[in-house]
Formats: sequence, C-alpha cells, structure tokens
Amino acid sequence: MSVNLFEQHFDVSPEGTASAPGRVNLIGEFTDYNDGWVLPCALQFRCHVAWRRREDNTITAVSREYPDEIDSFQACDEYKPSTRPWANYIRAIVAALRSEGYVTQGIDLALWSDVPQGRGLSSSAALEVALLGALNSAFNWNIDGAEIAKLGQLSENAFIGCQCGIMDQLISTKAQPGAALLLDCQSLEAISVTIPKQWSIVILDSNYPRKLVDSEYNARRADCEAACAAMTIPSLRAADTQRLAACRDTLTATQYRRAAHVLEENKRVKATAAALQQADLAAVAEQLANGHHSLANHYEVTVPATDALVAIAKAELGNRVAARQTGGGFGGAVVCLCHRDDVPQLLNAVERDYTQRTGLKATTFVCEAGTGLEVNNNG
Ligand code: ADP
Ligand code: MG
Repeated sequence: MSVNLFEQHFDVSPEGTASAPGRVNLIGEFTDYNDGWVLPCALQFRCHVAWRRREDNTITAVSREYPDEIDSFQACDEYKPSTRPWANYIRAIVAALRSEGYVTQGIDLALWSDVPQGRGLSSSAALEVALLGALNSAFNWNIDGAEIAKLGQLSENAFIGCQCGIMDQLISTKAQPGAALLLDCQSLEAISVTIPKQWSIVILDSNYPRKLVDSEYNARRADCEAACAAMTIPSLRAADTQRLAACRDTLTATQYRRAAHVLEENKRVKATAAALQQADLAAVAEQLANGHHSLANHYEVTVPATDALVAIAKAELGNRVAARQTGGGFGGAVVCLCHRDDVPQLLNAVERDYTQRTGLKATTFVCEAGTGLEVNNNG
C-alpha cells in the first residue's frame, strides 16, 4: 500500500519506510504533568511513512487521508504554517529537528494511517514518531528512542501549539508487542508489562461533544501547582499522603482533592502494572474502578456519558471487565480490559444500553497491544 501511494505520486520506489502506533492510556491520568507514572499501551493502528531522498532541498509530502493535497516547502525554511493543518505536523517535525541542530535535505514523503484521527488515540504522535523514524534513517542521524520521543513532543509544544506531555511519543516509539509500558514521566524510565494474550483492549468512544476542555485542563494543572506551592515542593512527585494531610489547612478543599487524586493515581498505576503481570483481571478491574471514581469525584473530569459507559460495562461483566475514562476528560473514551471471549457481550451491552441512557452512539474499537516504531531502510 505504502509503496503504491509513494510510486503513484513520485514515479519511483521509496528508499525506506517507517511506521509507529497510536496508543491508549490504561491508567495514570493527569499524573504525567505531575512527574508521576502512566501505563499506556500501543494499539495495532499505525501511521506509515515511505520516503526517498531528493537531490535538491525540497520536502514534499502527500497523505492518503488527504488525497489531492500536496505540501511542499524548503528544508532550510523557518517554520511557516501551511494552510493545510495536516501538513503542519510535517513542518513542525522538520522545525523541531532544526532547532536541535539536525538539518534535513530534500525528501519525498508519502504517509498513510489507520489510527483514527481526533479520537484521543494519538494519531498525531503516531505521525510524528513514524516521520522522525523515517528522517532519522534517511539521514543516518542515529537519534535514540527517548530523543525521538522528545523531538515529537517538542514539535507539538513549540510549533503545533499543543502542550502535550511526553507519554504519547514515548509509547509510540518504545512499545513492545503485547505489552503496556510503565513509564516514569520524571526519569523517562520505561518498564515493559506484558498484557495476557487472552485479554482484549476495548475502547468505547462516547462521542460526547467535548466542551471547555482546554480551560478546565489548565484549571486542574493550576490546582496541582497551587497545591505544590502550598507544600513548598517542586512537583507532586515529591509529596506523599502524610505530607498532604499535614498541609491540609493550607490548601483549598478543591486543591486537596486534586492532589489526593494524583498521589493515589500513582499508586494505582503501580498496582495495575503488578496485577497485569499476575494476569489478575479482578485486581486490574478494582484499580481501574477506583481510578474512574477518583476522576469523577476528586479530579471532576468525567461526564454522564463516560460514567454511563463504565456503568454499562460493569453491570454486564462485573469484575470480568476493567473500565475507566481515559484521556484528557470531559468526554472522550472509556478503556476496557476483558477476556477476549467476553468482548461480544460487552459490545452488545453498549449497543443495547448506551443510546437509551444518553441519546448518543458510541464508536467502539477492539484492540491489541501493538509494536512501537519500526524502520525499514532498503538502501
Ligand atoms: P489525535 O492525536 O488524538 O488523533 P490530534 O488533533 O492531536 O488528535 O491530531 C490529529 C491531527 O493529526 C489530524 O487532524 C491531522 O492534522 C494529523 N494527522 C493524523 N493522521 C494523519 C494522516 N494520516 N495524514 C495526515 N495528517 C494526519
Ligand atoms: Mg494528538
């Protein structure tokens, strides 16, 4: 497929290809910007990039998902946004590379992706990491995985204008097949945690129209920062339950609840990783249930639609399913883990009850834990 798309546009075969996955976060919500732990896993959905170097300095890109649009710019240009939003991701990667001293020459790029866009599965990180993998291979830079992830994050932070953490790019770069990654967002240490083969990852997108996401997200961050200031610590990583309790009078009730969520969520991430390793679904289910409860009551970022999806899953399968809202909140998706034999029953229950309870229709994805960045250089 890649090769066809590339050859159609450029009349020559590519020199190489790279691909990288989208992701879902199993648990560890709002812990990334508090220097804590997260437990994401890559999906089987991937973005692919085929490439061939050029003799000149022109970078040309096409995407299967945006047919009949070609973006072209000079490798040495300063970052100038394109009128095509998708093309800005490519320009942003080139700009991030340049800002770190890597200068590309001309290259032709064809990309295509089956990561659903704009659904919180991080199609943007998949694109960034695949593209960085392609350029790294094309120009022999030997950039390592952690640096690729940082460059992807930098491209979004500095050029796209999205203040994402590093989780998405790190999991997309480093994921091992069939495993989640226990990531320390402070040290960037990553430990692979196998997901039992018989389990499926089911993503239930609520399709709830998200509102006020950015302002509420920033308000939560500000609450955490205020809690740190009151406790005179650099980040919530440096806090523990005793310290938080001792400082209770210096915090507002809201700040206290936010900080308590983060401290407990860090514990849940580690407990979930341990339970996964033991293939103990009931224990994973308990952690995710507590996580969702805390998102609803302490961090206050769930909506009736995602609460309903969790309730439907639990009413149907009890502790045979682990379910919680995942992502930035105020809508988005619920992630579930269950035995693969239980997937039809889970999907059936959602189909039967969700619209009736909310008036909305869910979009569902049955997933398995995918592989991180893969690069193939024919040269
Ligand atoms: P998410 O990362 O949750 O999918 P974002 O809004 O961060 O959502 O990123 C989605 C954007 O990434 C798309 O609107 C598009 O600009 C770009 N993108 C993702 N996949 C592709 C693709 N295959 N081709 C071109 N651009 C893509
Ligand atoms: Mg994104």
